[in-house]
Amino acid sequence: MSTQEQNRLFALRQLNLLDTSPSESFDRITRMASQLFGLPIAAVSLTDENRQWFKSRVGVDHWEIPRETAPCADVCDSSQLLIIPDLLASDCYRNSYLANSGIRFYAGAPLVTREGHTLGAMCVLGTHPREVSEQEQATLYDLAAMVMAQIELQHAFGRIDPLTGLSNRHQFAEDLQDMQRDAPNGQRVALFTEVVDASELSTLHRTMGPVFLDELARITARCLQQAISSKSKLYDLGGCRFVHLVDQTSDTNLLKEATRLRQALLVLETTRAIPVLVRPTVGIAHFCLSEVTAEDVLRTAHAACLDARQAGKGAGLFSWDLDAHYQRCFTLQGDIGPALESGNELYLVFQPRVSLANGECLGAEALLRWKHPTLGEVSPGEFIPLIENTPMIKPLTQWVLRHAIRQAAAWHRAGKTLQISVNVSATNLEEEDFARRLLDEMAHMGLPSTAIEVELTESAMISQGEVASNQLKALTAAGLRIAIDDFGTGYSSLSYLHEIPAHTVKIDRRFITELGEDARTETLVNSMISMAHDLGYRVVAEGIENDTSYHRLMELGCDEGQGYFIAKPLLPGIFEKWLYKKAAR
Ligand code: C2E
Ligand code: MG
Ligand code: MG
Repeated sequence: MSTQEQNRLFALRQLNLLDTSPSESFDRITRMASQLFGLPIAAVSLTDENRQWFKSRVGVDHWEIPRETAPCADVCDSSQLLIIPDLLASDCYRNSYLANSGIRFYAGAPLVTREGHTLGAMCVLGTHPREVSEQEQATLYDLAAMVMAQIELQHAFGRIDPLTGLSNRHQFAEDLQDMQRDAPNGQRVALFTEVVDASELSTLHRTMGPVFLDELARITARCLQQAISSKSKLYDLGGCRFVHLVDQTSDTNLLKEATRLRQALLVLETTRAIPVLVRPTVGIAHFCLSEVTAEDVLRTAHAACLDARQAGKGAGLFSWDLDAHYQRCFTLQGDIGPALESGNELYLVFQPRVSLANGECLGAEALLRWKHPTLGEVSPGEFIPLIENTPMIKPLTQWVLRHAIRQAAAWHRAGKTLQISVNVSATNLEEEDFARRLLDEMAHMGLPSTAIEVELTESAMISQGEVASNQLKALTAAGLRIAIDDFGTGYSSLSYLHEIPAHTVKIDRRFITELGEDARTETLVNSMISMAHDLGYRVVAEGIENDTSYHRLMELGCDEGQGYFIAKPLLPGIFEKWLYKKAAR
C-alpha cells in the first residue's frame, strides 16, 4: 500500500465515521441528491481499505460493496468527478458489481478533506442510462462540498477534545440520537471510566500543574482506546473521565470487562508511564436506547462510578436504590429553602423533661418537624445532617430559635416556668452574630435568659474555633445554659470536659436503652453520672423507654429524664394538655 493511501486511510479513520449509525445530517443531503437528479439511488460512500462503506444512502439496502470495480473507488483514487452514462457501454464497468446488480448510470463527485485526502464519493445512481448536464455536475460538486462541510463540522467544532482528539460529550449526545433512530429498542451499556476522582484531580492540579493533567489525560485516553475494541468509540468527558458503549451482556461479563480496562490503566502506572498513583474506577449502566437521553446515560454511569469508588471497589453497576437515596438527599437539600418560606411545612414539637426525683416537668426539648409537600414527614435525623454543613443551617436554626422562643415566652406569660432546650449545630457557632441574635430575640419576647438552653453535641463543642468559643462565652455570660447533647457518642477525650463551658450533660439514648440489659452499660452510665456530677454538671438521660430504665436512673442519681416512657415529642397544644393532666394527678 502506498504511503499516500496509508495516510488517506488514517485520515478517514481519524474521523470516526466508518461503521457508525446513519445520521440525519448526512441523510438529508442524500435525499436531496436523489430528488435533484430524479434518481432512485444516492449515497455518501467512503472508501475503506477493501470496501465502499455508505455513511448515508437512499435506494439501497446494503451498507457496503467491495472496493474492487466500484466506480466510487475510482473517484477516490483520481479525486475527479466521474460520470458513467451507461455502465453496460463501459469496458471498465460492464462486469462490475454495480452493473451486475442492475445499475446503468453512475455519477460521483470526490469528497476531499482540507488536507487533500479523498475519503470517497457523493454519488447518484440510476437503473437507466442517462446524461449529466453541466449544471447537474455543479450540483453534485455542491452536494459533495456539503457532505464535507458536515464531516468537518462534526469532527472539529465543539465535538472533539483538542487534547485527546476524542469525541466529546456533545458528540456523544448526537451519536446517541443517531443510534436511537437506528435501533430504538436496542439495549446498550455505558462504561464510565474515571482515572482519578475529583479531589485527587484537584490535588494533582495543585501539586503537578495543569500541563501534567493534560498529559495524564492524553496517556490514559490512548491506553483506554487501545484496550477497548476498535468498534467501540471512546468519548472524552474532560477531567480524565471517559465513556464508551458496549452491547448488552451479563453483569459478570461487564464487570470482567471493567476490570480488564482498569488493569490496562494500572499497567500504565507500574510501567511508570504515569508517575503518580491513580485509582481508575469504572461505572457500568445498562439502558434502553429509546428510554434515555445522553444526560441520563452519563449521569447514571457516573453515579455507578462514584458508588463503586465510595464502596472501595474498582468497578460497579448502577443501582437504582442508591440513586434514589442520593436523589432524595438532593431533593431535601434543595427543598429546605422553600420550606422555610412556605410557612406551613416546618413546625416544632416539644418533648417534656422531668425531674427524676419528683416527676415534675422542668422543661422540654424543642424538636424540629418537616412535613414535606410530596415526601410527607421527614425526620430531622435525616435532613439536619444533610444541611448542617450548608449555608441553609443558618436560617433554619434561626427559624427554630425564633419559634421556640415565642412558644417559651407564651408559656412563661401563662405562668409555666419551663426551660426550653434548642438544638444548635456546630456551624451555627461559626456565625459572628449568633449569640447576639439569639439574645436579642429573647429580650424582644421578654424571656429571662434561664428559659432557654442550647444543646450542642460533644464534637460540635470540641471542634470549636475562636468565633465559636466567643459565641459560647457570650451566651453563658448572659445566663443561658448550655447542654452537651448525645453525651458518650463523640470521640472526645474526657480531659476536655472541664474546659467546656456547659451546664448540662445529656447522656445519649443508646446507653439508656441498654440499661438493665447489660451490666457494663450500667457501670458506664453510673460512672458518667458520678463524673458529670463531680464536675458540676446537671445530668439528663435521653431516650427513657421503660419503667426499668426510669427507676434505675433514679437510683443512680440522674437529675432529669426525657423519653417515650415519659412522653413523646408533642405539639404545643397537646403538650399543654399533658402538663395539665400531670398536675391534676
Ligand atoms: P436529639 O437532639 O438527641 O433529640 C432526641 C431524639 O431522640 C429526638 O429525635 C427524639 O424524638 C428522640 N427520642 C426521644 N425519646 C426517645 C425514646 O424514648 N426512644 C427513642 N427511640 N427516641 C427518642 P428526633 O426528633 O427525630 O431528632 C433527631 C435528631 O435531630 C435530634 O437528636 C437532633 O440532633 C436533631 N434535631 C432535631 N431538631 C433539631 C433542630 O431544631 N435543630 C438541629 N440542629 N437539630 C435538630
Ligand atoms: Mg437534642
Ligand atoms: Mg440527643
